[in-house]
This record gives sequence, structure tokens and C-alpha cells, in this order.
Amino acid sequence: MSALRLDVVSLVPEAFEPLLGLGVIGRAFAAGIAELHLHNPRDFALDRYRKVDDVPYGGGAGMVLKPEPVYAAVEAIPVLPRRRVLLMSPQGQPLQQADLRRWATAYDQLLFLCGHYEGFDERIRALADEEVSIGDFVLTGGELPAAVIINGVVRLRPGTVGRQVCLEEESHSALLLEHPHYTRPASFRGLEVPAVLRSGDHGAIARWRLQQQQQRTAERRPDLYARWQELQAQPPCDSLRDRR
Ligand code: SAM
Repeated sequence: MSALRLDVVSLVPEAFEPLLGLGVIGRAFAAGIAELHLHNPRDFALDRYRKVDDVPYGGGAGMVLKPEPVYAAVEAIPVLPRRRVLLMSPQGQPLQQADLRRWATAYDQLLFLCGHYEGFDERIRALADEEVSIGDFVLTGGELPAAVIINGVVRLRPGTVGRQVCLEEESHSALLLEHPHYTRPASFRGLEVPAVLRSGDHGAIARWRLQQQQQRTAERRPDLYARWQELQAQPPCDSLRDRR
């Protein structure tokens, strides 16, 4: 599989440099699993002050990102055949694990548009295939949301995480949250590792883990648990994964 090309259009491209040194994700970049290209709209500004924002038509607080530098930055980026343009916005669709999986598998190139100030001139939205929100809150810029998505996508690319089964078993892959994990020591400050995990009985361990997953999901995310129960009531299918 060839490298996933990630292009980021941002007024603070240096915000992405820490990603390259970030443990597993940093090593994936070093190994050529993904490559990161940073583009600053300021380099494409039309005037000698490198102006990228302006006051909103109709008045109001804050500045708006001008369309020309963002369009010019995007148009200077090579286009691979399977490209997706993602615009970071608190007005976008809430990010889901299924989105990360889709972007990690169906595309060769992801292009991120990061807003600032009051946000984008509305015409910039026409560049995007999808608008994505990382939650119902407002940050100062699209850099952290884009970095969150890059982290989540790159870790799903083959070769980033050693064992594929780790990705399949984790929370949100099949609606149920993951079961608890323990490592040595067996006893720590009076807190014991459940005996079943030390029993060597793989059937009993699997049953305990599923029961823990159900209990944890019911307690913490009753919305997910209700959807999981609905799926259990349906006829079996090839895979529950990503049916969210
Ligand atoms: N005035 C805008 C609104 O109400 O939709 C918010 C602008 S916000 C201060 C500046 C930029 O940060 C946005 O254009 C977007 O790129 C990014 N941003 C802020 N919160 C975000 C979120 N929850 N998800 C994704 N991007 C976000």
C-alpha cells in the first residue's frame, strides 16, 4: 500500500510538527506509511501585507478568512485520484470511528482545511467534500481537530499498529466499549487482577471480557448499548464493524 498523502492548509502549520515525533504515529511517518505536507495560505496572499482575513460583510465581531489565499493554496496542491477534502468546523458532522476507518481505507490523499478567527468565508466551503466537527465545543482553530483526525487515520493504516487484532477489539470498532485491561503485578495496593484473567481458561476469559464490555457500555454509553442490543436482535451478518 502506498503512503497516505496528508495535506494541511493552516495559518499555523508549525502546530503539526509535534505529530512527526509522536510515538507510534511519528514512527509511521518516518516509515513512509503517511506523508505530511503543510501549506500556509499566507504564502498565497495577494497583498504585500500577506493579509488572509478581513471584516465580515454586514458587520459583526471578528475577522473572516478570505477566500483567495485559501483557494490559491488548495489549487497549488497536487491532486491524487482518490482525494477527500475535509473542512474543520464546529458546524460539521460529529467525528466517528467509522469516518476514520473510511478515510484510512478509501483514499490516497486527505486534505484538511483549518479555519481561524470567526471562521471561513462561506465560499471556501465549496472546496470541501465533508465538514467535520470533533465535538460540540468551539476551539480557536482547526489545527487540533485536524491533528486528532490525522492521528486516528494514520493509526488505522496497515503497518502503524503492530497487530491488526488490537484495532479490531478496541472501543467503538463494534459499538461496545473495550473491556478492562490489567498487567503485572497481580496485586497492587490491595487491588487484585480478576482471577479469571489468570486462570488460563480462554473461553472463560472471552466470556468475562464480553460481559465487562456490555456492563461498561451500558453504564457509560447507554446510547451505544441500545444500538448494540438492536443489532443483536437482527439476523447475523458478516460483520458488525462500523455499523454505526
Ligand atoms: N464562528 C465559528 C462558528 O461558530 O462556527 C467558529 C470559528 S472557530 C473560533 C475557528 C475555527 O476553529 C473553525 O473555523 C474551525 O476550523 C475550527 N474549530 C473550532 N472548533 C471546532 C470543532 N469543534 N471541530 C472542528 N473544528 C473546529
